[in-house]
Amino acid sequence: MIRTIFLAAAFLAIGSYPVAQASGKDVGHLSSHWGYAGATGPEHWGSLNPGYGTCAHGVNQSPINLQNFIEAKLPPIDFAYTNAQATEIINNGHTIQVNFPPKTAAIRLDNNTFELKQFHFHAPAENQIDNTQFAMEAHFVHADLSGNLAVVAVMMQGGETNPALENLWREFPAKADGPHPLAAPFFAESMLPVNREYFRYNGSLTTPPCTEGVRWLVLKQAVPISEEQVKVFATLMRHANNRPVQPVNARTVLR
Ligand SMILES: [Zn+2]
Repeated sequence: MIRTIFLAAAFLAIGSYPVAQASGKDVGHLSSHWGYAGATGPEHWGSLNPGYGTCAHGVNQSPINLQNFIEAKLPPIDFAYTNAQATEIINNGHTIQVNFPPKTAAIRLDNNTFELKQFHFHAPAENQIDNTQFAMEAHFVHADLSGNLAVVAVMMQGGETNPALENLWREFPAKADGPHPLAAPFFAESMLPVNREYFRYNGSLTTPPCTEGVRWLVLKQAVPISEEQVKVFATLMRHANNRPVQPVNARTVLR
């Protein structure tokens, strides 16, 4: 189990290089051969690869529509993000991902340290809050030393230009390929809202292999983003990159 999660963490950290898309050839046996529509869309992920079965049969899948909250007096997430600077950006064909070097930033949660590996974007948002779907959602992916994952989700909405995103948006790689060094400094903390209260639930990766056991921490306060900024991302991706919400089943959502 730990090994599986560790591999999932590595997959997330590195991203999945879409050889098929980049080369224009169909090399269907590759694990990266999945998408968001048609024959390789989310409803087919579970049968695209023997390793993707959890996408179809898992019972703790993400994203979800967060509702029916349980009052839990959740302790604050201890963000150790100060001066945490990203070093590279990658267009992996599924999203734009921004990577951090080892030991740059972390959160403290459940008496454990989860190191920040990367963040990336979905448009429209994947998780919904009480039936509300936001324009975009950023996922800050953290892993502990055993490879257990904790994802901080930041909703993005509002219509105002987000100045913190301007430099990053200018550096989006036009084509899906390997990582590029970031030219302008970018700090993880600049993406976080002032109020960091959150909802918590147990879920999964929202992309194949849909590995479960992921701690989801969905911040209640959204950060601003303009329609133009959303459009730049969506145009580059050429398609929506959100997995549809999954059944909640027996899970609870804490707040
Ligand atoms: Zn994500």
